[in-house]
Amino acid sequence: MPSLIALVLAVQAAAQAPAPPARLTTLKQEAVQDVANRAQFTQQMVDQIFSYGELGFQETETSRYLVDVLRKNGFTVREGIFGIPTAWVATWGSGKPVISLGSDIDDIPQASQKPGVACHLPLIEGAPGHGEGHNSGQAVNITAALAVKTLLVREHLPGTLQIWPGVAEELVGTKAYFVREGLFKDVDIVLFSHVDDNLATSWGDISGNGLVSALFTFQGRSAHAAGAPWRGRSALDAVELMDIGWNYRREHLRLQQRSHYVIRDGGDQPNVVPPTASVWYYFRELDYPHIQEMFAIGDTIARAAAMMTSTTLASVRILGSAWPGHFNKVIAEAMYENIKQVGLPPWTEADQRLAHALQRDIGAPDSGLATRLDTLRPALRPDERRGGGSDDIGDVSWNVPTVTLRFPSNIPGLPGHNWANAISMATPIAHKGATAGAKVMAMTILDLLVRPEVVTQAWDYFRNVQTKDIHYQPLIRPQDRPAIDLNQDIMARYRPAMRRLYYDPTKYRTYLDQLGIAYPTVRAADGSCASGATP
Ligand SMILES: [Zn+2]
Repeated sequence: MPSLIALVLAVQAAAQAPAPPARLTTLKQEAVQDVANRAQFTQQMVDQIFSYGELGFQETETSRYLVDVLRKNGFTVREGIFGIPTAWVATWGSGKPVISLGSDIDDIPQASQKPGVACHLPLIEGAPGHGEGHNSGQAVNITAALAVKTLLVREHLPGTLQIWPGVAEELVGTKAYFVREGLFKDVDIVLFSHVDDNLATSWGDISGNGLVSALFTFQGRSAHAAGAPWRGRSALDAVELMDIGWNYRREHLRLQQRSHYVIRDGGDQPNVVPPTASVWYYFRELDYPHIQEMFAIGDTIARAAAMMTSTTLASVRILGSAWPGHFNKVIAEAMYENIKQVGLPPWTEADQRLAHALQRDIGAPDSGLATRLDTLRPALRPDERRGGGSDDIGDVSWNVPTVTLRFPSNIPGLPGHNWANAISMATPIAHKGATAGAKVMAMTILDLLVRPEVVTQAWDYFRNVQTKDIHYQPLIRPQDRPAIDLNQDIMARYRPAMRRLYYDPTKYRTYLDQLGIAYPTVRAADGSCASGATP
């Protein structure tokens, strides 16, 4: 017979040891069931944020709504952090590990679109809309966090959950500041979620680029453009010559680069020689040195354009930046095991009909929705990196072990940053995709909470593999501040009309119901594409 003391010691030792796999399996099953039970809550968050349709730095309704949801569920929230009015951080729990969950919340200019309708029909002509699907990621994270929180309380397990929004991701506008201001300094692991057309994750370098986003402003001198043009010095000429210079020069840059610009200020009216003009560039490359090299070439061309036109380069303002992401092998592998268990959502015939109709309408491969899981993509070799888009989660990923969970709320083969990418985003496709994502997210958080060795091994990869030779240094300069003034004018123009279409879940089960849209609405044989009336 063991003594009572020995028995007590044995019980204590068992309590302190890592939970056996069977216990973890049970906890995961319970979390998955809890997430499934919260499907309507998830749907409401997806639809609500879709209806707000806010551009970067102007996500006031979205943030107010999310902060309210989190406070009602026991989170402590700090709002307006780091001088960014729509940024916040919510925390719950205590002790280690600290698991940080992020997802973007902003949308795309001129992407307003009726959901569930497989052709271009804006809700409001010219207005912004969720043509990237950033209305769904917070629903994934919050649903998962609430399911895990319930288990932590019941099991008396230590651990802190942190939730934050990717404000102005389309402007790669905030995450470098989050890093600089120390948002992640006590964080053990970051789990990011982003909409996609499959349930997937990856590790190693992303195939896309990092970038610097910079606004070049020229100062000239106004004059009567007909009466005394010789007295004027056109700032617009400087912008045009900079663009011409860049367009010639980029033939002789590496193939991995991407660069694009828009003219933000091209003068006021033709009979006034423009005294001010500005052009906004994205300089994208694969790594920090190449991004900085491109930015320096752009700066030289801007100064040369000023010389040619006897204007001055008044300022070069950095509006955003992103490191190219690198995701953690250990966490990605743990997450992928959970992805395999959750699998893709069961799509209905209506879901597939919407997807096929849209794909045919825009000339994309007619594949329908994903029915086979992606494999876990291993690290890309340097020669496999061809360049592409960016996300400032890259900055976070070079400071804390990070992975991105991609979840299947969208339709394959779409152009991105486009009205077509908004079509599924307040339909059962988005709702089921977000629930599947939340299941994987909850299971992965449990892995990190219950198996401390996963966190240790993730840091080992981070320290000894990922950052062995590459050290993070911000692309933002010490004097840079978040560009919180961006998009104020556009939102002011469209918000009154958009407000009338905000989703009211107390009156309507779904946003499709509120809009009176028959699901799916597809183009008829005569070419028409009529949806139900919009109230
Ligand atoms: Zn995005």
